[in-house]
Amino acid sequence: MKVTLIPVTPFQQNCSLLVCDQTQRAAVVDPGGDLDRIEAALAREGAQLEKILLTHGHLDHCGGATALASKFGVPIEGPHEDERFWLDQLASQSRDFGFPPAQAFEPTRWLTDGDTVSFGAQTLDVFHCPGHTPGHIVFVDRTHRVALVGDVLFKGSIGRTDFPRGNHQDLLDAIRTKLWPLGDDIVFVPGHGPTSTFGAERRSNPYVSDAALARGHA
Ligand SMILES: [Zn+2]
Ligand SMILES: [Zn+2]
Repeated sequence: MKVTLIPVTPFQQNCSLLVCDQTQRAAVVDPGGDLDRIEAALAREGAQLEKILLTHGHLDHCGGATALASKFGVPIEGPHEDERFWLDQLASQSRDFGFPPAQAFEPTRWLTDGDTVSFGAQTLDVFHCPGHTPGHIVFVDRTHRVALVGDVLFKGSIGRTDFPRGNHQDLLDAIRTKLWPLGDDIVFVPGHGPTSTFGAERRSNPYVSDAALARGHA
C-alpha cells in the first residue's frame, strides 16, 4: 500500500491517498477540500478511487467528502456515529471559517471499534478514539505498519479537547490503551504537520510520553 499526503484547505490538513499496489484501487482519507489536488494525485498514481474514509466530522477533514463521493460514485465510511452532531453542523462550520458551502450528510456506513474497512486487496482496522471529538476514529494498516490518526495525535502534541463534547482524559486513554499497544514501529499520519512513530511519541511527546502519563497517574 502506498500512502501519499495531500495537504488541503487553509488548515493544511493531511488528506491521505492510499493506493493498493496489487490492484491500483484507492481510498482517500479525510478529503477536506481542494478536490482538484486530490483528483490530480489519483491521476498521477493511475489509481481508481473505491472508497472515502473519514476520521471525524471537522470541516477541514470532511468538507469535500460528499462532492468527491458523488463525482466518483463511491461510498463514504466513517466516522463513528457519535460524530453525527458535527456532521449536522457542516453548513455553519463552513460559514464560520469562510470555506466553500458544505452541507450536512450521513456516511454510507458508520464505523465503530473493531470494524475493518477494505479497498483493493488492503484491510484497515478501525479504532474508536474519542476525546478530540466523541466519534473520532483511527485507521490502522497492521501489515504495512501505518496509522491514519486524524486529530488524535501529532508529532509532539495531541488534539485539542476544548470543543463541545471534547474530553482530555478520554483522549489520553484512547492513545494509551488503543494506539500504544499496536507497537512502537507504527508510522502515523496526523491530521496536520509531519509524520512520526508511536515509539518516538512515547519517548518525547510532552502530553503522552510514557513519563508524562506516569506523572499524570501519580
Ligand atoms: Zn479536528
Ligand atoms: Zn484537523
